[in-house]
Amino acid sequence: MDSSNSTPPQNTSILIVGAGPTGLVLALWLTHFGVNVRIIDKNAEAGTESRAIGIQARTLELYQQIGLAQDIIAHGIKVNDLTLRKNGRKTFSLPLKDMGKGLSPFPFILFFPQDDHEKILIERLRLAGVTVERNSELIKLTQTNDSVQAIVKNENGLETINIAYLCGCDGARSTVREQLNIQFPGGTYSQIFFVADAIATSDSADDDIQLCVSSEDFCITLPVRNHGSYRLIGIVPPDKESKENINFDDVLPSVTRNTQLKIKSLNWFSTYHVHHRVANQFQKERAFLIGDAAHIHSPAGAQGMNTGIGDAINLAWKLAAVVQNRADPKLLGSYQIERMQFAKQLVSTTDKLFQIMTSKHLLGKIWRGIVFPFVMPMLFRIPFMKRFFFKIVSQIELKYRHSPLSQGHAGKIYAGDRLPWVQYETTDNFASLQAMDWQVHIYGTASSTLVTDINKLKIALHVFPWSNNPETAGLEKNTIYLIRPDGYIAYINSDQNPLLLKEFLSFT
Ligand SMILES: Cc1cc2nc3c(=O)[nH]c(=O)nc-3n(C[C@H](O)[C@H](O)[C@H](O)COP(=O)(O)OP(=O)(O)OC[C@H]3O[C@@H](n4cnc5c(N)ncnc54)[C@H](O)[C@@H]3O)c2cc1C
Repeated sequence: MDSSNSTPPQNTSILIVGAGPTGLVLALWLTHFGVNVRIIDKNAEAGTESRAIGIQARTLELYQQIGLAQDIIAHGIKVNDLTLRKNGRKTFSLPLKDMGKGLSPFPFILFFPQDDHEKILIERLRLAGVTVERNSELIKLTQTNDSVQAIVKNENGLETINIAYLCGCDGARSTVREQLNIQFPGGTYSQIFFVADAIATSDSADDDIQLCVSSEDFCITLPVRNHGSYRLIGIVPPDKESKENINFDDVLPSVTRNTQLKIKSLNWFSTYHVHHRVANQFQKERAFLIGDAAHIHSPAGAQGMNTGIGDAINLAWKLAAVVQNRADPKLLGSYQIERMQFAKQLVSTTDKLFQIMTSKHLLGKIWRGIVFPFVMPMLFRIPFMKRFFFKIVSQIELKYRHSPLSQGHAGKIYAGDRLPWVQYETTDNFASLQAMDWQVHIYGTASSTLVTDINKLKIALHVFPWSNNPETAGLEKNTIYLIRPDGYIAYINSDQNPLLLKEFLSFT
């Protein structure tokens, strides 16, 4: 293929294809690590739809590492309660505020629309000196042993970009995935989903989540943008499915019956088929699939965008270490191992939830008619169950115990777990993670030999006082915890033996 101009490989180490939330976060992280990136998007403008609105605690914890969390929280809506309705009638109201208290510095559920979220990421990136190149579409890619050639169609014609690595953050219909000839097995549900953003009045507080079920269908309402503005999610009634242009009026009777909302106006309405698919490779030589390009599933549980952001951060520190010659390229193999297992687990869980919510069979009716409106509230009153629910949904429970980068355990904490959050009077153990570098944590005391040896290894050592707090979090006294740049524990050794730590570091 002809190309109108070509850039030499040394200018840019990494090309990011796609400037959705996944690509933007990847660009931001790599730039933070001092890596030269280019980020392209085929669209002329950034997205203008609210799409993914739930931002999980784990995402905020990661955002805190680059000082982004407070900005997002300041613009978002913290959810107070979950209201359950059966046939439109309120059955229970469950308090969600601070449901993860003691587990995360962000113990709440936050809603913030994807388009506004992307604007903040784009602005952060601009301040870091990187601009998204719009109207730039990747159309072909080829690889050699030591570089990738990407052919991009932009306003100047065709450009060949030579880079060390290419990251496909180009969404569910990924061209990168297609060019790499990677399969995307899974399926598509027959039901048609609808999403709408509407201005309405409700007999519930407007910062509540409402789960409204009936034996026929369901509707979920979430707060979006500002007070009185709601995200509505449900299934298009079967008798309207075959219509050519399904519109809001087709779903309005079901919405009103289930939610009791009085709709004043509509901002956005869209219908779509939900897929459940995971790519069978997340890496092919020097090219990677990240975010929706690698996995898609139902929006149940607000996990999709958060998982893409998690992928991006998992890969960013590894790519930075490799292109800066601080790590062997084999480190990059851990990206697929760590993230694919979680993606598969997520797709299977959301798949089950989706089947329950939409099933016309007896089991579906039992879940919608009895379990959601009556059993769930009882479970939620048990503090353990509430914390369990928070741990799963917030993604703080996501772990990489099976990773080749994880070694050792002490008590109930294993290498590969997220570093548990420990709060002290004026600070916490997450503050040091802002260094975004390898570091050793010890809760208790470090022997003088260990201090000298860790200094020689040129790794930061943080010694935290021993008290009830680290103990409650599951940490063990005087144990070496080696923490990765993304806040996961890589290595645990209760012997304070620096030789073993040194051996482990040479392996990574
Ligand atoms: C209607 C709708 C509602 C949703 N609601 C929710 C929700 O409530 N909760 C939730 O968690 N998720 C939801 N999602 C999913 C969520 O929006 C995605 O998980 C998220 O956007 C994934 O981000 P991404 O960056 O991986 O991909 P995308 O956001 O899809 O971004 C991909 C980008 O790549 C660009 N691109 C594509 N091909 C090329 C190419 N060849 N060259 C250059 N650029 C290219 C595209 O223009 C796009 O900007 C929803 C999705 C839709 C469509």
